[in-house]
Amino acid sequence: MLDVAKIRADFPILSREVNGKPLVYLDNGASAQKPRAVIDAVTNAYAHEYSNVHRGLHTLSNIATEKYEAVRGIVARFLGVADERQIILNSGTTEGINMVAYGWAMPRMEAGDEIILSVMEHHANIVPWHFLRERQGVVLKWVETDANGALDPQAVIDAIGPRTKLIAVTHLSNVLGTKVDVTSICAGARERGVPVLVDGSQAAVHMPVDIDDIGCDFYAITGHKLYGPSASGAIFVSNERLSEMRPFMGGGDMIREVHRDEITWNDPPMKFEAGTPGIVQAIGLGVALDYMMDVGMEAIAAHEEHLRDVTQARLSGLNWLHQQGTTPDKAAIFSFTIDGAGHPHDISTILDKKGVAVRAGHHCAGPLMDYIGLTATCRASFGMYNTEAEIDTLVEAMELAHDLLG
Ligand code: PLP
Repeated sequence: MLDVAKIRADFPILSREVNGKPLVYLDNGASAQKPRAVIDAVTNAYAHEYSNVHRGLHTLSNIATEKYEAVRGIVARFLGVADERQIILNSGTTEGINMVAYGWAMPRMEAGDEIILSVMEHHANIVPWHFLRERQGVVLKWVETDANGALDPQAVIDAIGPRTKLIAVTHLSNVLGTKVDVTSICAGARERGVPVLVDGSQAAVHMPVDIDDIGCDFYAITGHKLYGPSASGAIFVSNERLSEMRPFMGGGDMIREVHRDEITWNDPPMKFEAGTPGIVQAIGLGVALDYMMDVGMEAIAAHEEHLRDVTQARLSGLNWLHQQGTTPDKAAIFSFTIDGAGHPHDISTILDKKGVAVRAGHHCAGPLMDYIGLTATCRASFGMYNTEAEIDTLVEAMELAHDLLG
């Protein structure tokens, strides 16, 4: 069982007020708050241990390098990866997927080749593939969900054709909360020789992830949603794809030798980490993942499942509230609209007056919004520090929004 009071005490921001009310932070899907351990690690790194990495032979550079490199092992442990050389540190999922698009997909795809996407993807897992569509005629093939927001893994596998070169799919929808059975998708894709990229930005926050078990080729995570610093993140790349992938960016650190007429690359993962990295961001990410593993991913998942069930029960009593995404095993992410309440921005403004932070908008999921026929929703997304009492506040604020706007 999770000791939520103890966890909350670790997050300084949770004790502040917003608009004269205690903060109820339910915008974790956009970005999560940071525990004291992460804030202290970032401060300490800048105050006492800062230097560039991999370059100097002086004490501070060695400390910074050691701390930065240790994060690779922490990410590997967090994701169930045995060989930490398969972990490339970066600024987040957007960079990770762009690296795959430019470094792996672009050189091996021709006009008419296909990439399969689910209709639930975040723009970070859509726009880089649109670049390939625009620039070299790659075809984007979309697989839809059912009315509850469930994605049938067999439908994804059945979409594979002779020209399919990649499946790029989310592990957990940032709008609907739907969990995707990426293990089955990877098994089917592997039989047909098609690599799979999994966008783990949301899933890794809410449930244990074991990449060995999933069997994907690429798995992207983003640090700021994992209670770590913004502009931190990582991507797992299998050894087979590492050997096929070209560097996306050129610069220091990713090369072994540079001469006037030739260069030789460094070995992976350095080959894919050009320039001075987000040293302190990475150190903070390592502390955040250690924090999550100390709390326990199973315990986090169980706590959030309980919050999901309580929220679901409370919301089902509100007949003027419409939810998007109703699969029973979804994550505690609730996208909703309120009858007659106008734009979700107005709803979120009223919720904010009650101290409740939610996101309103298209959630960077244009194709999903088109598919469900809405331009925007409000989204309440829970994290490990949220409580049942906060669900009461959320529902009271929703009732107020309905009274005022509905
Ligand atoms: N994928 C999903 C499912 C997301 O929810 C997000 C962030 O909202 C991203 C990708 C992009 O992450 P970042 O902006 O941190 O690169």
